[in-house]
Amino acid sequence: MVDKLAILGGEPVRKDKIFYGKQCIDEHDVEAVVKALTGSAITCGPYIDELENKLCKITGAKYAVAVSNGTAALHIACLALGIEEGDEVIVSSITFAASANCVRYCGATPVFADIRPDTYNIDVEDVKRKITDKTKAIVAVDFTGQATELDELRKICKEHNLYLIEDAAHSIGTKYNGQPVGSIADITTFSFHPVKTVTSGEGGACTTNDPKIYKRLALFRSHGITRDQSVMQNESHGPWYNEQVMLGYNYRITDFQAALLISQLDKLERFSNRRKEIKKMYDAAFGEMPELYLQTTIPESDTTQHLYIIRLNSDKLSCTRREFFEAMSAEGIQPQVHYLPVYRHSYYENLGYKKGLCPVAEATYETIMSIPFYPALTQSEIDDVIKAVKKIVEYYRK
Ligand SMILES: *Cc1c(COP(=O)(O)O)cnc(C)c1O
Repeated sequence: MVDKLAILGGEPVRKDKIFYGKQCIDEHDVEAVVKALTGSAITCGPYIDELENKLCKITGAKYAVAVSNGTAALHIACLALGIEEGDEVIVSSITFAASANCVRYCGATPVFADIRPDTYNIDVEDVKRKITDKTKAIVAVDFTGQATELDELRKICKEHNLYLIEDAAHSIGTKYNGQPVGSIADITTFSFHPVKTVTSGEGGACTTNDPKIYKRLALFRSHGITRDQSVMQNESHGPWYNEQVMLGYNYRITDFQAALLISQLDKLERFSNRRKEIKKMYDAAFGEMPELYLQTTIPESDTTQHLYIIRLNSDKLSCTRREFFEAMSAEGIQPQVHYLPVYRHSYYENLGYKKGLCPVAEATYETIMSIPFYPALTQSEIDDVIKAVKKIVEYYRK
């Protein structure tokens, strides 16, 4: 006897819904924010330096530039590398739109590379096929937190004189061959949105080891205005003088957000371990179900998992992905789909990108969903997620 699904009128696994991601804020975080708010400066103050030093320490990078969000980090990364109209930038096809939008902000052309069917990270062979004389950079995403194939990508970049931007929005805390993400690519970008591993509400950062790139990142963050005489074109008029040397933006983060993030980063290892623990439980439960495929892990990546994705084996299930998704939702477990291939958004379709461009990404998109995965999940919530997946798999088993 299989249980009647909630969507067909059966008893749901749980009554109050849980979602795929959620921030994990404790009283220390609250105290840190309150302290910063009552300090001398709430923006451009001392917490920014402290945060950037901490990000350097955690990532092993020489320089960090904290900004208002992960998209701003991607934008100034492209600007700092001089990406402009006429350039092509190769971008992972399964990612959040911002990984490609940053290229468009600069007037350049995103060229989408397909993904690997097992890890869902960018397919290095397809990257090679998509290089032209116009290619200037690659934006590779550490999708779900697992490091992309950085050695291979760096080798390609070296051979073809390209820059590597690593979109590490999912992967703070991840190591690649023992080296923390953030110190490997030309520029690594982070996001601290509430669903990410650590949060500042909204927030982001770039890290780099190159002092010239660092200076440009810092300028683009703050209007292109500087007090650094070595960067100015004109003579200083006096102690008040600052000079705008290029067209930048206001992409600054506030001190109270920085204080929150510093407090969150103190817990990164704990969050990371808990994420690894939950992944193990899910892997054990779902690994023995032939109806589901799990993401392949590569030995080079010691992963702080951000998303947990199940992929349906359509040969063994009589339901569509949509039916599975809606059945989960009815059981009180709200999944999400990460992501529609970027070029399938109407904005990109209207630019002329066509269906069929990245067949593996498109086929993967049709069968995946992300299930609740964050450190604050309780054991009974984890058990409920497993129970709901099992219940639906059993019901639709062919
Ligand atoms: C979240 C995310 C971003 C953008 O970060 P924001 O802080 O929301 O602007 C960029 N790339 C990926 C892969 C993301 O998941």
